[in-house]
Amino acid sequence: MPYLFKFDLTKISRSLFVEVARVAHRSDIHRRMSEAARRLISRFRIQELTGLNFSDAIQLMEDFIQIQIENLMNRELFLKASRKALLLPHCSRKYMDGRCKATFDPSVPSYICSHCSSDCLMNQAVTIGEREGYDVYILPGGSCIREILRRGRYEAVVGVACGMEIKLASKALSKAGIAGQAVPLIKNGCANTKFNIETLTKVLHGDPKIG
Ligand code: SF4
Repeated sequence: MPYLFKFDLTKISRSLFVEVARVAHRSDIHRRMSEAARRLISRFRIQELTGLNFSDAIQLMEDFIQIQIENLMNRELFLKASRKALLLPHCSRKYMDGRCKATFDPSVPSYICSHCSSDCLMNQAVTIGEREGYDVYILPGGSCIREILRRGRYEAVVGVACGMEIKLASKALSKAGIAGQAVPLIKNGCANTKFNIETLTKVLHGDPKIG
């Protein structure tokens, strides 16, 4: 289920995510998560720069912290895995209409990027994912994940999605014994969504210092 609010963190300093990773390292994070989220909101002027109200900003920051914790917890298993998939959201394509030259394969289901635009995030992510040896899927929605994982018999998955979808997917992955690494969207919505390609590149490469 996606968030009920819109956000765009593309104007926030990248160091926010380094700080989120640092905060997530602390052992007493569960007790202090709310306090840590408040500090991040104030320090990075999240409300002023995004227009989010306080409770939505808290939810977003707490979700980011939680995602970093789960990434850290799963990383060792993830690095040992050999069969890996990269799941990307179709809403991060540069175009959502006929200008996108991707074809759709309903049997998977996944869009197949034809690399028509060099500045398309999806093009960059697909290219890096394939170069790193991942099976790459551009998903039309979250409901097809289960079938893709079942058919591919994957040991590990990197997923790009909004924080709320990541939290739901991570429960399913841990039930299935699959090591997940997540990269949260920094701009949500139905189209033109964004994630940080540098962060994704580090995750795909298995870089232990992700920020
Ligand atoms: S690069 Fe790929 S995903 Fe992006 S617009 Fe072109 S075909 Fe679509």
